[in-house]
Amino acid sequence: MTDTLDIKITKIAASRLAETDFSNLPFGKVFADHMFMADYADGEWKNFEILPYGPISLSPAISALHYGQSFFEGIKAYKHADGKVSIFRPDKNAIRFNKSADRLCMPQLPEELFVQTIAALVDIDREWIPGKANHALYIRPFMFATDPYLGVTPSATYKYMVLIGPVGPYFSKPLRVKVETHYTRAAEGGMGYAKAAGNYGASMLPARKAAEEGFDQLIWTDAKEHKYIEEMGAANAMFLLDGVLVTAEAKDTILDGVTRDTVIALAKDWGIPVEERKVSVAELVEGAKNGKLTDAFGAGTAATIASVASISYDSEEYFLSDPATREFSKKVLTTLDDIKYGRSEDTHGWNYMV
Ligand code: PMP
Repeated sequence: MTDTLDIKITKIAASRLAETDFSNLPFGKVFADHMFMADYADGEWKNFEILPYGPISLSPAISALHYGQSFFEGIKAYKHADGKVSIFRPDKNAIRFNKSADRLCMPQLPEELFVQTIAALVDIDREWIPGKANHALYIRPFMFATDPYLGVTPSATYKYMVLIGPVGPYFSKPLRVKVETHYTRAAEGGMGYAKAAGNYGASMLPARKAAEEGFDQLIWTDAKEHKYIEEMGAANAMFLLDGVLVTAEAKDTILDGVTRDTVIALAKDWGIPVEERKVSVAELVEGAKNGKLTDAFGAGTAATIASVASISYDSEEYFLSDPATREFSKKVLTTLDDIKYGRSEDTHGWNYMV
């Protein structure tokens, strides 16, 4: 798989693996020994390299820093009981990577190249993948503009890099979420469907305000009326309403999540009706009141399936059923884990074996 790619490999002199505390893995703070790096210049990708994780030198004028020509992806690799390693649906991330690139006037990266470079890096640091339940290797591919030029114009040069590191669960408890009715994550015609760095920068102030009010997460609503549900923090918002799996349709304000797509596929396998449509705050509030809202969760690679404990709207907090009693999300989580950790047959072909 990797021998078709010419990657220069420089191994770390002494691995940091032995000194890493795998019982304490705060998300995104622990990095494996190596990283991947490539350059885009003169219209092509070159200088493929795997090297020890560490600082790199860049001009302070690069346009990524000034104008946000920068985006990323998030993927996970899992260790199976027999030691095999799989990456979950990296082909989907490859497609989304290029959608983000397109929106930000940045170059395409061939899908096979994306998947192969990630697989090559994961293979080198496969010992870093935790074997424990709810643990994985988080993979962070990203691309950014490197022209040292302050004109507001697309850069001619870029870097594509991949970082990896072991992670445990992202959320430790069911979430109290607040329906955001002032700030906006994405507007029609904007770049909500791209994993643009700027989308996340813009989300931090509203998220901090919600945290100050005691909430764990925000539910983003539409930019025009703040009446329709869009996403939950950095995850897709999904609900079981009157026996139907409902979620916002994937449009230009929505990040078309791989987990979302996976949950929809499972629901369809199980004969559960699925509606990708406008979901109003009003119908969720109504469902919370009359008991028809039987499940609510955020779906994402980092978050996996993050249960919603309560939804707050207009100064009212609506508590939902005890997450431990929610059949749908529990079945999704178990089924997904069984596939990701190689305990059940991967009938959909979601595991990319390394
Ligand atoms: N929405 C947003 C805004 C996100 O950042 C993410 C995380 N990538 C998701 C949804 C979930 O996407 P995925 O399931 O592909 O991780």
